Amino acid sequence: MNAVELIRKKRDGGTLTDDEVRWFVDAYTRGVVADEQASALLMAVFFRGMAPPELATWTAAMIASGERLDLAPVGRPTVDKHSTGGVGDKISLPLVPLVAACGAAVPQLSGRGLGHTGGTLDKLEAIAGVRVALSNDEVVEQLRSIGCVICAAGPDLAPADRKLYALRDVTATVESIPLIASSIMSKKIAEGTESLVLDVKSGAGAFMRDPADARRLAETMVEIGNGNGVRTVALLTTMDVPLGRTAGNGLEIAETLDVLGGGGPADVVEVTLALAREMLALAGVDGADPAAALADGSARARWDDLVRAQGGDPTAPLPEAPERHDVLAPRSGWLTRLDALGVGVAAWRLGAGRARKEDPVSPTAGVVWHATVGDRVEEGQPLLTLHADDPSRFAAGLDALDGAFEIGDVEPEPVVRVLDRIA
Ligand code: URA
Repeated sequence: MNAVELIRKKRDGGTLTDDEVRWFVDAYTRGVVADEQASALLMAVFFRGMAPPELATWTAAMIASGERLDLAPVGRPTVDKHSTGGVGDKISLPLVPLVAACGAAVPQLSGRGLGHTGGTLDKLEAIAGVRVALSNDEVVEQLRSIGCVICAAGPDLAPADRKLYALRDVTATVESIPLIASSIMSKKIAEGTESLVLDVKSGAGAFMRDPADARRLAETMVEIGNGNGVRTVALLTTMDVPLGRTAGNGLEIAETLDVLGGGGPADVVEVTLALAREMLALAGVDGADPAAALADGSARARWDDLVRAQGGDPTAPLPEAPERHDVLAPRSGWLTRLDALGVGVAAWRLGAGRARKEDPVSPTAGVVWHATVGDRVEEGQPLLTLHADDPSRFAAGLDALDGAFEIGDVEPEPVVRVLDRIA
């Protein structure tokens, strides 16, 4: 095989054969194909796309570049969830213990945040002492004993993706549907789950702004999952308005505890329950009522088990930011717009997110919005509160919020969260 010929073939709109795809992914992972050649092929894929069988083989080759976890010893149906990420999207945190409390096992191998969307691991680590680097044996044992785990994917899970994703990040080839779909699905399939529910978001604060692109991504991922023996369903959800009332690591844990206590913002509860019902149906768990598990404390008890199993104390108070700054409503009326991207960038600049992979994140920084779209607000009331460790960050946070909300005289249409289901 010759990398130059494969690049030329893809550049000119051809379809790589199974052998060519397998050779390329393997040779690049082993360092035989150089970064500049892989960059050129990725750019050719960016412009030319991939045929469905080509993408299936590409994803299978990425899975085969590492290990596939064996979750058979867990002894209950396994089901996971993946979200393409959004502002205030803390859904995995209440969802994982909730689905476990209803009888399935949830191996949530997750990532860190980069840019304006937060990462589940960063949020969980806002709880002092929680460990997210677990061995495969620890993952399996925790799933067997309490039915849920939220931890980092180990280095042997789809190592081809680790290399390819880092390269895409610096070659402007991230925003390609086949490359995104294969990247996400190779990791999820390698983690060994039997079924998977995808939350694919579109809108101002989402990775995919356009709902038509989000639909194509969802369809592509559902096809890859089912084609690899993982029962997969996607919900298309909106991310124009941030989810819930908080964006920021510790702040989102506090909101999670509200949801697990039977309260919390209506939109977070709605999306959590919609995903929980899909997960339980895919896992074949009949008769469980996730709304009841939130109300009766069983989901909260499972959360406490998870935090304890991973080294934290679920009863310890969460850290709080020493510095706060309120943004007041400039007039009375209906909140008609709250821009997810503006809120996400503000939280990020306040210290909740990172600009480079190696940057630390603050457990306490972020944004709380006291009203969401559709709520009545009165002039002078606190509309948003910025939380930071250092007051010098407020100016950049406020700058991101400039023009991020509107107050009008007419009550807006209710925000639709779940748009469609792709199976
Ligand atoms: N998340 C991933 O894991 N991969 C992508 O390509 C994009 C988002």
